Amino acid sequence: MGKLFGTDGVRGIVGKDMTPELALRLGRAIGAYFGRGARILLGRDVRSGGDILVRAVSAGLQSQGVKVYYAGLLPTPALQYGVKEEYDGGVMVTASHNPPEYNGIKVIGPEGVEIPREDEAVIEEYYFKGVGGGEWRSLTLAQSEAAHIIEMYIDAVVSQVDGETVRRAKLSAVVDCGNSVGSLTTPLILGRIGVRVYTVNCNLDPLFPGREPEPTPHNLDLASLAVKGMKADFGIGHDGDADRAIVIDDQGEAYWGDRMGAALTAFARDHWPGLPPRTYTGVSSSTVIEDYLKDKGIEVVWTPVGSVVISRMILRDGGAISGFEENGGYMHVPHQVVRDGGMTAALVAYMIAAAGEPLSRIMEAIPRYHQIKTKIPASKDQARCAVERVREHYSNLRQVDIDGVKVFGDGFWILVRPSGTEPVLRIMLEAETRDKAEKLLEEVKNVVSTCLRGAQE
Ligand code: MG
Repeated sequence: MGKLFGTDGVRGIVGKDMTPELALRLGRAIGAYFGRGARILLGRDVRSGGDILVRAVSAGLQSQGVKVYYAGLLPTPALQYGVKEEYDGGVMVTASHNPPEYNGIKVIGPEGVEIPREDEAVIEEYYFKGVGGGEWRSLTLAQSEAAHIIEMYIDAVVSQVDGETVRRAKLSAVVDCGNSVGSLTTPLILGRIGVRVYTVNCNLDPLFPGREPEPTPHNLDLASLAVKGMKADFGIGHDGDADRAIVIDDQGEAYWGDRMGAALTAFARDHWPGLPPRTYTGVSSSTVIEDYLKDKGIEVVWTPVGSVVISRMILRDGGAISGFEENGGYMHVPHQVVRDGGMTAALVAYMIAAAGEPLSRIMEAIPRYHQIKTKIPASKDQARCAVERVREHYSNLRQVDIDGVKVFGDGFWILVRPSGTEPVLRIMLEAETRDKAEKLLEEVKNVVSTCLRGAQE
């Protein structure tokens, strides 16, 4: 049986792998999974091919007697919130942070979280086996519009924070929407709580002329400059579907999501009392945050990489303060148990306003290591081989192998794992100094080199 789903839905290059034919057939399979009469919310990000793919998916869903409600362009977390409140499930056409030529399809369960792996297998089975059409009497309803979802979502995010506190602080922020659907919500959310907003790359454009859709501290240079130039209090950079937010401080420094996630978790613990004092984060997060949060009485639960795993574990365990990822995905559990870039932006504003001090000062509380993240092209077999080599090479050190292998050294850590969404091997490491981190990276590259012959960097 073939496999369609990666870590985060089905992804492919538009017009090559991600075709209307695939979308139609996948739509039928998803429709068979939800069943006749199910009410499904459908939406998309700005990506090329999106308008074609939503039509094909919608036709496939409708062929199974599913009722489709089309929300149009919106962030994934807005669609997820809409599903949680009003529908039986959702389908989002997006390739999130992938390069511009990609598009994809995510399936959302009734609680607003992407469906679990075993349910994806059911859809895969329907896809490869093929499903018949619905009975004619069930095919009378055409697709309806669901244009109210964005407003409902913005209201929900705004209602989470104390707008008065934020307004009094007279903050300003730069938002880099990455030319996609974050443009439709985050500037409005911040505006509603009295933050003055300057925008960068907030014109919708499927060609992503401003920057790559993945928000990393490196490709948010322009936003960082704008924060300094405008003397703003913070900056936000979203990915293609705005479930992620990388945060920039008043000095123009951009933080990975693990450090910001730790700061927001500590803040949320004090402002949303009664939540179980724990947080969930992937093994790719720095070990530094564990020390920081432990001191505040918050337990860190390490998880495999992937936001769906984190969401599902939080639901299974009966809640948490938060879940977060180093890539900028932050889940504010009192709002919804999925990553939400707009919610993250509002929380950052609230945290700064409540603290009454600059974000750069708030972040000083979290220890600083030098981090390197890189990826090397690698097939699945090459990546598996590389993980094995690293495991053997550092066998005298403590290791966690929930996902790839994480090595805990004295004053450093290394994570080597195959990506779930791209044919690459991801290498992340941290050490006390830049020099040590660079030497460590060379060492790791040497260790895995025999596995990756033929893969070009
Ligand atoms: Mg995303």
